[in-house]
Amino acid sequence: MVGAVTSSPATSGGPAPVAYDDVVRRYEPVLGLETHVELGTASKMFCSCSTVFGAKPNTQVCPVCLALPGSLPVANGAAVESAIRLGLMLNCSIASWCRFARKNYFYPDMPKNYQISQYDEPLCTDGYLDVAVETPDGPREFRVGIERVHMEEDTGKTSHVGGATGRIHGADYSIVDYNRAGIPLLEVVTKPIEHTGEFAPEAARAYVRELRDLVRSLGISDVRMEEGSLRCDVNVSLMPRGGTEWGTRSETKNVNSLRSVERAVRHEMERQAGLLDAGQRVVQETRHFQEASGTTVSGRSKEEAQDYRYFPDPDLVPVAPSAEWIEELRATLPEPPAAKRARLQAEWGLSDEELRDLVNAEATDLVAATVDAGAPSAEARKWWLNELSRRSTEAEISLSALAITPAQVARIIALVAEGTLTNKLARQVVDGVLNGEGTPDEVVDARGLKVVSDDSALGAAVDAAIADNPDAAEKVRSGKVAAAGALVGAVMKATRGQADAGRARELILERLGAG
Ligand code: ADP
Ligand code: MG
Ligand code: ZN
Repeated sequence: MVGAVTSSPATSGGPAPVAYDDVVRRYEPVLGLETHVELGTASKMFCSCSTVFGAKPNTQVCPVCLALPGSLPVANGAAVESAIRLGLMLNCSIASWCRFARKNYFYPDMPKNYQISQYDEPLCTDGYLDVAVETPDGPREFRVGIERVHMEEDTGKTSHVGGATGRIHGADYSIVDYNRAGIPLLEVVTKPIEHTGEFAPEAARAYVRELRDLVRSLGISDVRMEEGSLRCDVNVSLMPRGGTEWGTRSETKNVNSLRSVERAVRHEMERQAGLLDAGQRVVQETRHFQEASGTTVSGRSKEEAQDYRYFPDPDLVPVAPSAEWIEELRATLPEPPAAKRARLQAEWGLSDEELRDLVNAEATDLVAATVDAGAPSAEARKWWLNELSRRSTEAEISLSALAITPAQVARIIALVAEGTLTNKLARQVVDGVLNGEGTPDEVVDARGLKVVSDDSALGAAVDAAIADNPDAAEKVRSGKVAAAGALVGAVMKATRGQADAGRARELILERLGAG
């Protein structure tokens, strides 16, 4: 929503930022988003090394990804297929012939001294993605043009040790892990995004979210921004409102949450307006987003464009997907997330607001999977949005990271529906499952959580309640059925809440001749 993000504090070293409302009254932002998607293929882009995350440093390397002399790369077919599928989902044209290029530069986390990427011959070009933004006047749709989707390889990971900031400045030494070097990446580059006006920050966020959901629906990446499998560079420029000539852009690198995307755009708009108002110019540079302050700080200047001396990689054959293969892939694309949301809204009978709550809680797919496992949608929604959302907030993890599966939630819902569990007992079962005590049924058995509803077990508790409460019993006998409540309460207490209250009441009335 507009105004959801507070104004940025002053930027050190520059003119004071301009208040957001004032910025959008006088300036028009242009955005560009470059998103890296790390693919979930079993092996790397050009060799057969494993891509499993978290292995001991430098154990998933070979002569190819270390670029030892004489080694030769071979493109990973599964990665090419993923790229084509993403391109098709983004309404792109797929090249019938294209090549990989060498992007030459030196950095210690890149053992080849060049990165294999695509330059002037990307695999997918000229697509679009529609995104919706909530405005005070209702939802508004923006069509984001997609310039290209190209394939490349990731670099290794450098750690700077000894300094306070984790940056190279002040560090005692640096170490490099090449396990990530050569993992396949797709880079999705938008065309300049115009006409988003005051909704630019929300539009940027909505685009990255929609792209993330689309990639997830393809199952080609786990798209976890916090783990870096989805990373976003945010380009922003300003021009005077009504102008046609774009201003100079800044590029904020590796923004790693949806909220940060929104904040980074907003801050850059405020900061750049401050510069322009003061008669200064915006410098073309990379910047870094500071999570704590919500501001960006200057990185590397890009004013002297680096010469990467791109040229086609002579070690790799061209990629030439046949028209038949592309059509085969097109025919098996999943339902786009926007279409899926609309379908579920209709199937479940949700209001726009209910759908929005579900989407904002990142619960849509979890609820859908719970419904697929047999739960009624209203119950599934209730559990994920209430009890389980509360647990994920407490644990400070995402809903999908909770140690409970949609099928298990569906089973708990079924146990409540059949009367084996009360809602209160069901919450204890959730505790047990999250605690690693096993499946819902195992937790019910191990913790002895079943509702006591078989008459022999209940009967003893009912008899005891009648014996212990002669006054209430007498009232029921004489026709004051309301007095049975006290006896039901006594049964519930004696069974620590596990009695089936309805059945206990029936037994009480039966025993006292009032049934
Ligand atoms: P680089 O390689 O320097 O990052 P690219 O052209 O690959 O440059 O990507 C720049 C991104 O910024 C693209 O998404 C592009 O659409 C966008 N862009 C280009 N010019 C502007 C501008 N003046 N203002 C905002 N975004 C821009
Ligand atoms: Mg860039
Ligand atoms: Zn390798």
